Amino acid sequence: MMQRPLRKDRSSNNRWLVVAVLGALAGVVMPLGSFAGQPAAAQQSDGPGALALQEAAPEEWLTYGRDQAETHYSPLDQINSDNIDRLGLAWSWEIPKAGARLETTPLVSNGVMYATGPHSFVFALDARTGEKIWQWDPGIPDERNGGPSVCCGDVNRGLAIYENHVFAGLLDGRLVALDKGTGLVEWVQQTTPPGQDYSITGAPRIAAGNVIIGNGGAEYGIRGYVTAYDTETGEQAWRTYTVPGNPADGFESEAMRVAAETWFGEWWVVGGGGSAWDTFAFDPEANLVYVGTGNGAPWNRDIRSPGGGDNLYLSSILALNADDGELVWYYQTTPGDDWDYTATQPMMLLDLTIDGRERNVIVQAPKNGFFFVIDRLTGEFISGEAYADDVTWASGIDQATGRPIETPEARYGMNRQGAYLSPGPTGAHNWRPMSWNPTTGLVYLPVQNTQSYYEMVTDFRYTLGQWNTGTTIRGGGSRARPERPELTGPRTLLSARDPATNREVWRAASEEGFGAGNGGTMSTGGNLVFRGSGSLLIAHDATTGEVLWQTEVGGGTATPMTYELDGVQYLSIAGGSTREGPRMWTFRLDGMAPRPGGN
Ligand code: CA
Repeated sequence: MMQRPLRKDRSSNNRWLVVAVLGALAGVVMPLGSFAGQPAAAQQSDGPGALALQEAAPEEWLTYGRDQAETHYSPLDQINSDNIDRLGLAWSWEIPKAGARLETTPLVSNGVMYATGPHSFVFALDARTGEKIWQWDPGIPDERNGGPSVCCGDVNRGLAIYENHVFAGLLDGRLVALDKGTGLVEWVQQTTPPGQDYSITGAPRIAAGNVIIGNGGAEYGIRGYVTAYDTETGEQAWRTYTVPGNPADGFESEAMRVAAETWFGEWWVVGGGGSAWDTFAFDPEANLVYVGTGNGAPWNRDIRSPGGGDNLYLSSILALNADDGELVWYYQTTPGDDWDYTATQPMMLLDLTIDGRERNVIVQAPKNGFFFVIDRLTGEFISGEAYADDVTWASGIDQATGRPIETPEARYGMNRQGAYLSPGPTGAHNWRPMSWNPTTGLVYLPVQNTQSYYEMVTDFRYTLGQWNTGTTIRGGGSRARPERPELTGPRTLLSARDPATNREVWRAASEEGFGAGNGGTMSTGGNLVFRGSGSLLIAHDATTGEVLWQTEVGGGTATPMTYELDGVQYLSIAGGSTREGPRMWTFRLDGMAPRPGGN
């Protein structure tokens, strides 16, 4: 799972040979959004297909986190903690596209399952039988054959659906609308500048009649932004940048002018980063779209912004007006990011009683190891507590200021002294969804304890098509390293957390070997929490954490989801590496389908 710097074959592709052409790059003009905005399209109609905050149709799974609050919770309870031992295979379908980890969460609408595989492969199955209805392969080559630069695999986390459309973000930066019934392409938008180091791996989301999409690429050097397109026409509704561009070109908004005061030097040459590559949520009552932004580009702040600064809006939760994309508030989880501590990790919207007060909150466990509870209407900091065992870059979050209390060794660039720090760049939590259960009042969070040696690169040169982090995380360091400290916690675990008190209530460490390595989680009205772990799908009692059931689904488990058809509850998860064959697995009570391969 470790992010690996990838090297381009320089001989085969001239576009990667642009080395430090600073003037030319500073002159690259990105397509600016129309900031005139547009009126929000009519709210979605009631009935199947309708979305509402935590009130989505219980039998369906209509958006990445099932509801727009992104809770990954289903009220279905036919499968429950009393009968879970009767769970058996209903069907499985081999995804005919391999070559990357499975990260998809399928959607189910009107009896059809829609999901993605590696390389932006899209498919629709009969959700009762697993029979294929259609599939669509955009035919994007991998990086070695001229495909886009992708830091962490040619993965895809899923789709959005709205009325008769299915929306997919592609590795090469395109957003496409497909006909729900046939899979035929309805419209295509190139959402990123072609030939630059942008890519899409995240699931689009729907908000106020628009489809919202971000992108990745900050390891290579890009400027982050998020764009909204009209679901019917594909016309751009708005675009909001997450970091400022070159002030000489003028600012797109007041928010960018304010942000530029927190940057130094010529940050725009490499791009600054802040890519919104995964997480969104939507509160239709507040009409706010929440966006999690990524790390700095380069990682090392002393190169990116010599002189320091918070470098807004890196590693932040942004609340944007859904109609025009204007910034309403922000909360920066890691000011002046130096460590690839993105705030792109899954967020959810909850209504909680905290210290006797009803609060509308947004919660997130970003990479940096702290679980944040923020007022989702105002951006006010409520609490921030360590959720991982190994967090050494900061000793806590200051309750008065909402800012981390950094440890002296954390600023390896400013100190000109490398350091082992926890978490490492893969974070204490990454893309794997956490889930919520309103009955237990717990958030189920896949945690990993990680560590990395960070050292500043002293001869940094920006190179298009290569990692431009300004940080050495392994090998090649200039100084003798200190001894690597031992990690104190398990490598991966499931942590059940009460967000109202911001304390862990129970935990289940993953077994080493067979069951090691987190997938995403899902909780249900059946007092259950399901998670992928290594090659296992595991069901825990949601109240106590006891393991009640498990089965093997192949290495590299994604995120479970559930739905109901004809009175039968089904449960699905994508699992299986390239070697075993990636597969969509679906279970039901008393399911008797033979396992593939007869094992
Ligand atoms: Ca990153």
